[in-house]
Amino acid sequence: MTVTLPPYDDVVTRYEPVIGLETHVELGTNTKMFCGCPTDFGGQPNTRICPVCLGLPGSLPVANKAAIEATIRIGLALNCTIATWCRFARKNYFYPDMPKNYQISQYDEPLCTDGWLDVEVDGELVRIGIERVHLEEDTGKTLHVGGATGRIHGATESLVDYNRAGIPLVEIVTKPIPGTGALAPIVARAYVTELRDVIRSLDVSDVRMEQGSLRCDVNTSLNLPGNDWGTRTETKNVNSLRSVERAVRSEIIRQASVLDAGGRIIQETRHFHEDTGDTTSGRSKETATDYRYFPEPDLVPLAPDAAWVDTLRATLPELPRLHRKRLQTEWGLSDLDMQSVVNAGAVELIELTIAAGTTPEGARKWWLGELARRANEAGIELAAVGATPAHVAELQRLVDEGKLNDKLARTVLEGVIAGEGTPTEIMTARGLGVVSDTGALTAAVDEAIAANPDVAEKIREGKVAAAGVLVGAVMKATRGQADAKTVRDLIISRLS
Ligand SMILES: [Zn+2]
Repeated sequence: MTVTLPPYDDVVTRYEPVIGLETHVELGTNTKMFCGCPTDFGGQPNTRICPVCLGLPGSLPVANKAAIEATIRIGLALNCTIATWCRFARKNYFYPDMPKNYQISQYDEPLCTDGWLDVEVDGELVRIGIERVHLEEDTGKTLHVGGATGRIHGATESLVDYNRAGIPLVEIVTKPIPGTGALAPIVARAYVTELRDVIRSLDVSDVRMEQGSLRCDVNTSLNLPGNDWGTRTETKNVNSLRSVERAVRSEIIRQASVLDAGGRIIQETRHFHEDTGDTTSGRSKETATDYRYFPEPDLVPLAPDAAWVDTLRATLPELPRLHRKRLQTEWGLSDLDMQSVVNAGAVELIELTIAAGTTPEGARKWWLGELARRANEAGIELAAVGATPAHVAELQRLVDEGKLNDKLARTVLEGVIAGEGTPTEIMTARGLGVVSDTGALTAAVDEAIAANPDVAEKIREGKVAAAGVLVGAVMKATRGQADAKTVRDLIISRLS
């Protein structure tokens, strides 16, 4: 059955979306949450395990202090209240990737509560309420093999790797976010982006969505204006910033089509499909009672004292939004120009390029121009385009020193992206430098004069503007490598 979906712009004039985001962040601690096993990404399956993270009988967990500190710092950066006393809880459910058949998590006593994060959307600040930030342990990973899709359907075997089981995981849950209207998908993306930047600035996780160290579940519901909020669905494990936006958008459209047809929304988890951009039904959502939470009897309560929390507060860095404000002033950019830097994901790249010795204008020109264009074409993040801040700074220095002009610099940049070496190496190897030696250019200038006698005559008569034609001819003859100013000076001195 094919259902014609209503257009998004129409849906958001008739329904009000309410969104909410649950984000899981794997902490970059050296060891797991409750044992001493290492936490590095990858590794041979089932080599980073021990009786504690396998949940073997008689083993006892001990909480990781570094993970608790990281969680408190995240809570403080998100303006939360830090609990003076709280406990871990057991969340009971059976799944093969969870060796204990329960997860140690936090339930009614989270470590951090009631904060907020301000995010900028179209130049306006939107304050996102933070319900809670709590600490738990990650599960293992299941790999379904033998099928075409990597999913369980059609697979001949399922393999489980417990290396990830027990890695500290921080869950950050927003309060429901109403009132964003048509901007809901963009607000969701802006929030996850800002949250990622905050956590990165705290240096507690590498927050890489593609490696799963930042994972996001998106809650969406729709209601008619003036009515109560609708039933929400939870779209699981959306694993790129772009997908966060797409998942909210596609779920808004899907729910509207169900409601338009007189149906009702079922509370369930849904899976986002990267290829089609839509969601399909997962399992009907468990309620808290299904998990039979109870306080974890093997761990002592957690009671961070005020002095410890103050010490951690003193370690907070300048937060990304304020950091960007400061950079904007230093770089002398308008709000709009700064916004395009942010939207291109270029803030840090430009900052590093300037630190490597170039001007804000020089750095911005390359990252927002040629490199952004290439990243867009390839559908990749700007940071993955193949040129580093050091390369860009060096390239611009060669331009500033007159050794490359813009056209030659773009050719050199192609070589950098192709992995041929540094800009100077490529310029030398390919013989791409600007020729400003008058001796070398005189022959080309004389040829151009001889080939364009009428133009030469005009210049002799004092119409120096006509020199542009001859400069163009010399540039062409030298494959763009002549220094245009030197050529122009030569032409005028020979014709006067
Ligand atoms: Zn272990």
